[in-house]
Amino acid sequence: MAMTRTTPPRPVDITETFPQLREHSTTATRLHPRPGTPTTADSSVGGPLLWPAGEPWPVCTEGADHYVFQLRTPASVRRCREIYAAAWARSQASGVPYGLTEQERAEVPAYDFSEPHDLVEQPIALVPVAQLYRRDVPDFAGPDGTDLMQVLWCPLDHPDEGYNPKVRLYWRSSAEVTRPLDAAPEPPVVSDAYLPLGCVVHPEQIREYQYGDLLPKDLDARIGAWEKQTGHSYQYDLSLAPGWKVGGFANWSLTDPHPMNCAECGASMTLLFTAASAEWHGQVSSWRPVEEPSDASPGTTDVTIGRGYALYVFRCPVSFDHPPATAMQ
Ligand SMILES: [Zn+2]
Ligand SMILES: [Zn+2]
Repeated sequence: MAMTRTTPPRPVDITETFPQLREHSTTATRLHPRPGTPTTADSSVGGPLLWPAGEPWPVCTEGADHYVFQLRTPASVRRCREIYAAAWARSQASGVPYGLTEQERAEVPAYDFSEPHDLVEQPIALVPVAQLYRRDVPDFAGPDGTDLMQVLWCPLDHPDEGYNPKVRLYWRSSAEVTRPLDAAPEPPVVSDAYLPLGCVVHPEQIREYQYGDLLPKDLDARIGAWEKQTGHSYQYDLSLAPGWKVGGFANWSLTDPHPMNCAECGASMTLLFTAASAEWHGQVSSWRPVEEPSDASPGTTDVTIGRGYALYVFRCPVSFDHPPATAMQ
């Protein structure tokens, strides 16, 4: 049975106090990824993609241009996660403090271990980040005739992308994939922060309001004064959802807003997709779904962007053929 995830109602309806905010509002679909075993027929994060067998799998060939720190094989990253999950489950079941057995410890690489750095000079197969079917995601955006969006990235740091993974987007019609690829190729090495756990998603549409600094100045100032009076936080509780999502607005709290313009045509870009380090921030977060216990881990995908930030992927509103752009916040 598919469990739903439900965002709690906002502490107050901000549009009752500031009706003008309705003009600075949009919807977003929170994906609520949780570990599972999705198939190519499912929407997923980090799951298998419905990919035509005859279409080459994309690779990154930027080789020595990657910033390289600690490299791991995908198999080793997955094995370590299994070991940690088993140790956690043992400790939960028995009440014995969390710890690894000697055998498990022998399998986990030293904290400063890295595979040889020259392995990045091979073609790096991109890894599946998300595949989303139009039917599942109310805020799906894609070219006419497509019903499937696939997000992949090179799982290494790209200095020209702000030391983030480099994103590629694909849209297709699932009915046209008559002969699907059996198994995707894997990169020889990854940065473990960029290899998502296989997750099923629980899409939920919510409403968002524009980031404060991007509102008209007087409206932003009045909201600021109201926050001081009431103790409410527009930024943390009332405007923008944290976590993986489709659509909505970006939260520019790290660098302050900067214009995202299409490299091809100069158009002001639209937020398409967000990959995030955390689904909510802190045990008292108003964004933790009502189904989650207060001690649930907010890092459900094992993806970490920077020091716990999010990677925003923007698209050009003029054409889906124009290249996406990313910003870390
Ligand atoms: Zn790369
Ligand atoms: Zn464009």
